[in-house]
Order: sequence, then C-alpha cells, then structure tokens
Amino acid sequence: MGLWEALAARGQPLEVMRLVDDTGRLIRAPEAVFRAPEIGIGTFGSNITNRDITEVLDARAAAEPKLTRILGAVTDVRTRETGIDLTLDDGRTIAAAVAVAADGRRSKLREAAGIEVSTWSYPQSALVLNMRHTAEHNDVSTEFHTRSGPFVLVPLPGKRTSIVLVEKPEVAERLNAMNDADLAIELERRSHSILGRIEIESERQLWPLSGMTAKRVAAKRVFLVGETAHVFPPIGAQGLNLSARDVAALGEVLARARREGRDLGSAGTMDAYERARRIDVETRTRGVDMADRLLLSDALPAQVVRSLGFWAINRFAPLRHLVMREGLMPSFAAPRMMRGLKVG
Ligand SMILES: Cc1cc2nc3c(=O)[nH]c(=O)nc-3n(C[C@H](O)[C@H](O)[C@H](O)COP(=O)(O)OP(=O)(O)OC[C@H]3O[C@@H](n4cnc5c(N)ncnc54)[C@H](O)[C@@H]3O)c2cc1C
Repeated sequence: MGLWEALAARGQPLEVMRLVDDTGRLIRAPEAVFRAPEIGIGTFGSNITNRDITEVLDARAAAEPKLTRILGAVTDVRTRETGIDLTLDDGRTIAAAVAVAADGRRSKLREAAGIEVSTWSYPQSALVLNMRHTAEHNDVSTEFHTRSGPFVLVPLPGKRTSIVLVEKPEVAERLNAMNDADLAIELERRSHSILGRIEIESERQLWPLSGMTAKRVAAKRVFLVGETAHVFPPIGAQGLNLSARDVAALGEVLARARREGRDLGSAGTMDAYERARRIDVETRTRGVDMADRLLLSDALPAQVVRSLGFWAINRFAPLRHLVMREGLMPSFAAPRMMRGLKVG
C-alpha cells in the first residue's frame, strides 16, 4: 500500500540490539548482541513514534477511495443472528455483517460479543519518554536488564532516543516526580553514560504493567485485533507487531470467505481466524511474561536458566539466528501477505 516508505521516512532503523545484564547479581548473564546483517537483513525494523504511525495511517486511509470512514465513538453494540448494529455518539446507527474490534484493551465490542478475558498485573510500572543526547547511538538499541525490570533505549532519528524504563511502581513514580534536569542525570547514570549527556525532550508517560488475553479472538460476528485481544509488557517490541499479524490474518480469512461466497460472520469464518491466531498470541504473551519473570526472580535456578540461555545465544550462531528470525516473525504463524517480507 506504499505505507512503509512514508513510515520509514519518519523512523530510525535498528541495526544492532544489545542486551546487557545490569542486575549486579552473583550469577550474571553475558552480554548478548544481535546484528541484523548476520541474518541477511539490513535492519531489524524501525523505531517510529506512535504519533507518526497514526498520522501516516490516517492520511493513507483518508486517501483510499474504496474506504468509507465514519468518524465517531461507538456507544452501543447489538449483535444479531445475521448481523451487528453499532450506535454512535451522534445517534447514528450502522448495520454490518461483521465488526472488527480495534478499540483497545477495554473494548466495548469485545464485551458485547461476550468474550471473557484473563488479566494479570506485574509489580512494575514503565516510565516512557524521548530524550536528546550528546553521543551518537549508531543505530544500536540497548537493553539494560536490572533487578526491577529492563531499561530499554531505542534510537530515534538524530542524537535522540526513546526509552522504556521498567521499575518498581514506587521507584517509577519517584523518577516521574523529578524535574527534567535531575531525571536526565539519573538516566545518564542508569545508562552508564553510553549516550553522553542527556536532555529530556518529550512529555513523560507512566504505565502500570499488566497483561490480558481474550479467551477467544472471535465471537458473535466480532473479530478482535490488537489490544482488544492481547496486552503484555512493552518488552522486546512485540505488541504492535503481533497486532499487525492479527490484521493480516483476518484480512486473509475474510477475503477467503468472500471469495467462496460464504457469510463473513459464519461460525466457520470465526473458527478459521481463531485457528490462525491462537498459538501466535499465546506464545508471544508467554514468552514476554517469562522473560520478565526470569529477570525479576532472585531465585538461583532462574538466574542460571537466564545466564545459560544468553551464553548459548552468544556461543551458537544458528541458535542466535533462530532467535532473531523468530523474534521478528514466527515462522509457524506468518500470514501469507507477510511471508518473504524483508525489513531494511
Ligand atoms: C510504554 C509502551 C511501549 C510500547 N512499545 C512498543 C514497541 O516498541 N513495539 C511494539 O510493537 N509495541 C509496543 N507497545 C505496544 C503498542 O503500543 C500497542 O500494542 C498498540 O498501541 C495497541 O494498539 P491498538 O490499536 O490495539 O490499541 P489502542 O492504541 O489502545 O487504540 C484503541 C483505539 O480505539 C479507540 N476507541 C476506544 N473505544 C472506542 C469506542 N467506543 N468507539 C470508537 N473508538 C474507540 C481509542 O480512542 C483508540 O484510538 C508499547 C506499549 C506501551 C504501553
């Protein structure tokens, strides 16, 4: 759709990812370094701010002649045997064969479809902001793994970086209460000055970390995509990517139903979507959950497992390559339209 050119122009390519054990524990994992060219790609992807992604998508959707956009908030949802009715905040009603729920973690559509969720929380909050610095980042993304969670530095264009700092909630709140100058000094200390002197550039956001999985991804003619179906901590840059696979898989399932002249909201179509997404959503959610819990655990066996994992990744190139490829896109769940895609 020509989207990538517009997005890439606003993003910063990521060529190298460094994971550094900064726990100070007795058993520490060796540093793991992933380089995109090792698996024959230029970059792992790009770091693009949420605002830029939304602006580019919005402009493209507005320019698409086959798309009718109806702007408004959904206030009421009625599911019927043969269709679905949505009421908007200005009183209009829209009748459709199916609805795609993309209304976030507290989805009204999901609730109307009667889909239950499992939720859990983590003893952590994430402080998120963008900053300027005096040293070059050289397209390297660095994750310092501390006892309270990862401190992730992801390059932005220029001498700028976005950070996700995961900490105990009370510590994250204390950091958030600091003035910009003091917070910059604290961030320089935590980043071991690898980016030189730091200046806070953006507003800050504080996110309590939580997880959620919907028990089904489709019911009563409602199909869930993105955070209506799955929420997990922002570790490993997986959330939005998993959501893009939801959308691609749903596109394929609905296109097939239409081609074969079947009802888009039939039980068969909903089951096909469920089959296409269940394993990918579960494995990503569990993978991110396990990585976070292993890091937080002071138990010796957990530290040994982590350290051995990192050691093996460093030592065995085929394993490292597998981790990189599967991190980008799971081979077992790549929607057809995403197969063979090369980043960078
Ligand atoms: C701190 C942090 C860092 C992250 N970093 C990364 C990363 O590096 N890489 C990555 O891949 N992912 C990352 N993620 C995850 C990613 O941001 C989310 O997965 C993604 O934004 C979710 O998008 P969504 O469209 O599903 O939900 P949302 O962004 O929540 O969008 C839902 C939309 O629905 C609208 N809406 C809600 N209710 C209604 C209604 N009744 N009627 C009409 N509209 C409605 C809302 O206004 C909103 O616009 C991060 C998340 C966090 C919190």
